[in-house]
Amino acid sequence: MTILPQKARVVIIGGGVAGCSMAYHLAKLGWTDILLLERKQLTSGTTWHAAGLIGQLRATANMTRLAKYTADLYVKLEEETGVATGMRQCGSISVALTSERKEELYRNASMARARGVDVEEIAPAEAKARYPHLEIGDVVGAVYIPKDGQGDPANITQALAKGARMLGAKIVEQAKVTAIHQDKGRVTGVTAVVDGEATTIACEHVVNCAGMWAHGVGAMAGVPVPLHACEHFYIVTEPIPGLGRLPVLRVPDECAYYKEDAGKILLGAFESVAKPWGMDGIPEDFCFDQLPEDFDHFEPILEKAVKRFPLLAETGIHTFFNGPESFTPDDRYYLGEAPQLRNFWVACGFNSIGIQSSGGAGMALAQWMQDGEPPFDLWDVDIRRVQPFQANKTYLYRRSVETLGLLYADHFPYRQMASARGVRRSPLHEHLKTRGAVFGEVAGWERANWFARPGQEREYRYSWKRQNWFDNERDEHLSVRNRVGLFDMTSFGKIRVEGRDALAFLQRLCANDMDVPAGKIVYTQMLNERGGIESDLTVSRLSDTAFFLVVPGATLQRDLARLRRHLTDEFVVITDVTAAESVLCLMGPRARDVIKKVSPNDFSNENNPFGTWQKIEIGMGEARAHRVTYVGELGWELYVSTDQTAHVFEAIEDAGADFGLKLCGLHTLDSCRIEKAFRHFGHDITDEDHVLEAGLGFAVKTAKPGFIGRDAVLCRKEAGLERRMVQFRLTDPTPLLFHNEAIVRDGKIVGTVTSGNYGHHLGGAIGMGYVPSKGESEVELLASSYEIEIAGERFAAEASLKPMYDPKAERVRA
Ligand SMILES: Cc1cc2nc3c(=O)[nH]c(=O)nc-3n(C[C@H](O)[C@H](O)[C@H](O)COP(=O)(O)OP(=O)(O)OC[C@H]3O[C@@H](n4cnc5c(N)ncnc54)[C@H](O)[C@@H]3O)c2cc1C
Repeated sequence: MTILPQKARVVIIGGGVAGCSMAYHLAKLGWTDILLLERKQLTSGTTWHAAGLIGQLRATANMTRLAKYTADLYVKLEEETGVATGMRQCGSISVALTSERKEELYRNASMARARGVDVEEIAPAEAKARYPHLEIGDVVGAVYIPKDGQGDPANITQALAKGARMLGAKIVEQAKVTAIHQDKGRVTGVTAVVDGEATTIACEHVVNCAGMWAHGVGAMAGVPVPLHACEHFYIVTEPIPGLGRLPVLRVPDECAYYKEDAGKILLGAFESVAKPWGMDGIPEDFCFDQLPEDFDHFEPILEKAVKRFPLLAETGIHTFFNGPESFTPDDRYYLGEAPQLRNFWVACGFNSIGIQSSGGAGMALAQWMQDGEPPFDLWDVDIRRVQPFQANKTYLYRRSVETLGLLYADHFPYRQMASARGVRRSPLHEHLKTRGAVFGEVAGWERANWFARPGQEREYRYSWKRQNWFDNERDEHLSVRNRVGLFDMTSFGKIRVEGRDALAFLQRLCANDMDVPAGKIVYTQMLNERGGIESDLTVSRLSDTAFFLVVPGATLQRDLARLRRHLTDEFVVITDVTAAESVLCLMGPRARDVIKKVSPNDFSNENNPFGTWQKIEIGMGEARAHRVTYVGELGWELYVSTDQTAHVFEAIEDAGADFGLKLCGLHTLDSCRIEKAFRHFGHDITDEDHVLEAGLGFAVKTAKPGFIGRDAVLCRKEAGLERRMVQFRLTDPTPLLFHNEAIVRDGKIVGTVTSGNYGHHLGGAIGMGYVPSKGESEVELLASSYEIEIAGERFAAEASLKPMYDPKAERVRA
């Protein structure tokens, strides 16, 4: 009979590829007392039946870095452990059937090159030469990645488990975790059942690697882990004589992938409307199970596949497979420490790429657990992006129908989710809707992204070229620059920090000086010990003891977690007041004229200069008027109690009619801010970007003692910058920048664009990105010639270290 230990340093829940990778990587870092508990047998959840495609290219630099690490690890693992992983770097081909898909593939190829992934754009004939069975009549382009590969998921997992055991980790099968214990907000142990006997194991850390069970395991700890299982289908053919060794083939326009293995073809599907599974819970005895086949569901994929790969028509199907896998609301997995519970970690929700992700995910999370901070920017997959409501099962069910297919959907810029919408709405939602708003979603919030003209279709028409709202954005943008625009930014995260020690607390967390008189607003960052940016925010001092923090809607949970984690025995209360107030941003050279018409207060530079707030009367209600801007113009962010929002909006709208006021959407906010080179958290600035290299040194007060990250700032000042954030403008007004395009300096790729949009005032696409500049002066940096590579083509770019729009900030202080 198995006897469980009474204590461990870390308990890993789940013996799939993710759990075994966690055990392996923690052991590699020298952790002892690692205990992995698996309710049935290793690999018996989703891992055993994965197709085993192991690609290297992901949507961002660090995700690509992790996928590359995975591929290299699986190659080495066999030698280290003696367990064959079946890893074969057979290469992969992705083909495009439309010009839009070709643009996506070729843009990805440029990005891949910038990230050191070997990649070739190939003509259809060359794709045929590498994949003779492929029908290429309608193929318009293809990309070949020589080092992509495939492996055997069960064996990879066994190899990771063996590697972990060789370093002392203990793995116990048939041990189900039934409870997670905590005290004072920190994990203290788990209860696990073996042979009907429950044992409580004290531990410092728990890692939730429970795959599609992770939602339930999270719930045991009070931690939302939003994911839902869906059915995922593939078939395996009978052996095909003379098939030969083939690369992996992806035909995303037909939702299909092909893997050759031992003379057979595995054909898998990422259909656009998926079948959620497990709504009533996953059966207790689930172990190496498969789900019933559904030929009707798979048939449309198969029909196209037979035309694409005519040999299939003459081949019998040996296996029809259907297995469950977990999908998250944004199609990205979860990594990191749960904001709700200290030392409760997650590595789950792999959205069909768990085999190719788990090596890197295990490495990154192990390092994070060791250091208490992510080793590099992992915001894409960070669990702190989760909104608590997202654990709602109805929401997850509805969204999961869409997410499976997203893997092979066109990944157009600005693409919005179509399902499970409308959960969080501003009090102005209906007002904006009747005025033409076309909404997008962030963190569950519906936000007006652009405003359609009367009679214009209120839908996105996606493209890699100018989309159907390009002219709407231009009109809105130019209104903000020349007259006045009104934005609904209610989705901002709002946090009150108050109490006797609030000032001292914020002085420690923020890099700027918070010791300002009540009425002042301070733009600041919260830094980590490396000088990286954890949070980008404004702080308004409300009184001696109360501060009001404004953060992006998408980072609210992360920012709350950071504040709460750093609270010691200080007398401070932190309250999320996001839903209490709406935010109306009145921006543009005529903003003062409009506000003066609806408010008797004094909005002069003397009374209400840039960087101050005042309480005002507005219409028949009241608001706090914050003189700040994210679009680079004179303007006010008006914080209005939610019950008065509609009234204040109507009053401003009436008053604005005389001054050409235009309702503006989030796309315009972004196009304006990028002209002004205002950084965007998550793209331009992250926890791995040093605040000085990001060009935000002006907001760091090193004269202030004791704030987190101060030493790192002083060190970097002393040692000099290694890279700098540069703003680019394409001189050709036609091409568009989104992000991830390659930055080319004097003919050599040196980085990627961190964010891009169209500068309607500056007359061309604007991008930002880091350029290595070790030992160089600003003059030397700018003396180079710059180009941006888009889908393989290079375009000349003007470069600047100062904002190209209003470099002296005269407009904001007007
Ligand atoms: C048909 C199909 C094809 C796929 N093809 C690919 C591919 O080609 N490439 C790729 O990268 N990915 C692929 N995937 C996805 C990949 O298989 C998964 O992402 C990956 O296996 C998930 O691993 P995991 O460790 O997170 O989950 P799992 O393998 O499900 O492991 C979770 C484990 O946790 C255990 N557990 C749950 N609750 C408890 C508890 N309370 N106590 C103890 N143990 C518990 C379960 O028993 C289970 O073994 C495919 C998936 C499917 C369905």
